[in-house]
Amino acid sequence: ATATMVPFTTNLNDVFISVKTTKHYHHSRLPAIIDTWFQFARNQTWFFTDRDDPYFQNQTNGHMINTKCSSSHNRRALCCKMSVEFDRFLDSGRKWFCHFDDDNYVNVPRLLKLLDNYNPREDWYLGKPSIPAPLEIIRQGPEPQKRPQKVKFWFATGGAGFCISRALALKMTPVAGGGKFITVGDRIRLPDDVTMGYIIEYLLKKQLTVVEQFHSHLEPMKFLSKDTFHEQVSFSYSKGPRDEWNILKIDGFDMKDDPKR
Ligand code: UDP
Ligand code: MN
Repeated sequence: ATATMVPFTTNLNDVFISVKTTKHYHHSRLPAIIDTWFQFARNQTWFFTDRDDPYFQNQTNGHMINTKCSSSHNRRALCCKMSVEFDRFLDSGRKWFCHFDDDNYVNVPRLLKLLDNYNPREDWYLGKPSIPAPLEIIRQGPEPQKRPQKVKFWFATGGAGFCISRALALKMTPVAGGGKFITVGDRIRLPDDVTMGYIIEYLLKKQLTVVEQFHSHLEPMKFLSKDTFHEQVSFSYSKGPRDEWNILKIDGFDMKDDPKR
């Protein structure tokens, strides 16, 4: 009778982590993930790709999912993958859906610590925008006699990673479940992460909670200070024009051995 209620302690098995990838990137991007943070969440992380790859199927312990989406870098193909990621999360029964790109490093313990601040039975959309103001689009509604409307919403940048609680995902199901995510994307003709924001912020009227600890390579990685690395949820890297890398500033690594940090 005296047992204290611990409201929510997030366990690894509460999380479904999806990583979007494509056949052209398997060899250049997956090893860095598999050799590092994947090892902390081997049973919770799934790679969503567009081709069967026995080598990486083996490396990931059977965690490569061939979405059968097109392998071209167009909006439709990317929305198709996000749609499969979302549906697989719904089937998983887990409490949290966290999406990342294949050029993210995920600080798994910190991700769990972050999620522990939120109740998955409530509606949560956690991530970070990469634009300074909400996106504004002009939408022609279902009634053609009405004038096109200005619609404003925030979206979490896919390349920084974002998380959605199960409660929110269930509310999204009528509009976005069972492959319907692609239909919404087609309707607004915007990329997958923008479509996600549109569904959650505009259609469902639930707000994005900004979490500064998510990072995409749209930010300069060198400005992240080393003594806060452990607090960050995700990192990224990219190669700019003229071979300069946008990477974390960490001493003691050789550019040859580890160009991506
Ligand atoms: N991607 C994909 N299909 C493609 C190209 C990219 O699924 O044809 C994925 C890629 O694996 C990554 C994300 O989309 O997870 C973003 O790709 P990239 O980093 O190349 O481009 P960015 O948009 O970050 O500049
Ligand atoms: Mn990228």
